[in-house]
Amino acid sequence: MPAPLADRLAAVQEQVAAAARSAGRDPADVTTVVVTKFQPLALIEELHALGVRDFGESRHPEARDKAAALPDATWHFIGQLQTNKARQVARYADVVHSVDRPELVDALAGRELDVLLQVDLGVGEAGGRGGARPGAVPALAERVLEAEGLRLRGVMTVAPIEVPAATAFAALALVAERVRAVEPAATWVSAGMSGDFAEAVAAGATHLRIGSAITGPRPSA
Ligand SMILES: *Cc1c(COP(=O)(O)O)cnc(C)c1O
Repeated sequence: MPAPLADRLAAVQEQVAAAARSAGRDPADVTTVVVTKFQPLALIEELHALGVRDFGESRHPEARDKAAALPDATWHFIGQLQTNKARQVARYADVVHSVDRPELVDALAGRELDVLLQVDLGVGEAGGRGGARPGAVPALAERVLEAEGLRLRGVMTVAPIEVPAATAFAALALVAERVRAVEPAATWVSAGMSGDFAEAVAAGATHLRIGSAITGPRPSA
């Protein structure tokens, strides 16, 4: 029998806190965003009843419908975002983690929105998981600062499969530093998923995006 949701949530929260303490960090400085893509609203409501207030979704309009059903929460849009859907997503998302190109910045502008720059740390050709190459990030940061309504909060990555997670998160920390040189208030680092959140905490992540370790396996799309 799989452990019930409350037990899995508590276990992950304990592991996150332990990872923070062993890195000499305050567990209160690490926010766990529970990734609920493909999961039914009933599961999100159960998590909400257990105290979860940060939810991550990756697809419009699924994210829109869930955010409308549960407005008393912070909704993090974490998926690749098409420019032609950006304005709609900006209406309900509180944070967009996946800003990776100038056209997307322009399309999101005009809304009050927290923005993270997604960084592609893959080796060789740009990977399929989205993100700007590290060298393009400072200019993208400038673009966000010039955009009305958008608040530049920091950086995000999905660790590439071909690189050890700790190596990717160390590289992300360097990119985060370059972004803080442009905007000192951009202190968020969104990194770490079910399989690598301890490494992300050790490397300084402030926001973890954890799905299956808490929710159990995702129903297929
Ligand atoms: C699905 C997803 C996650 C969560 O993945 P798990 O392995 O289930 O924890 C985190 N970040 C992004 C961008 C995702 O798409």
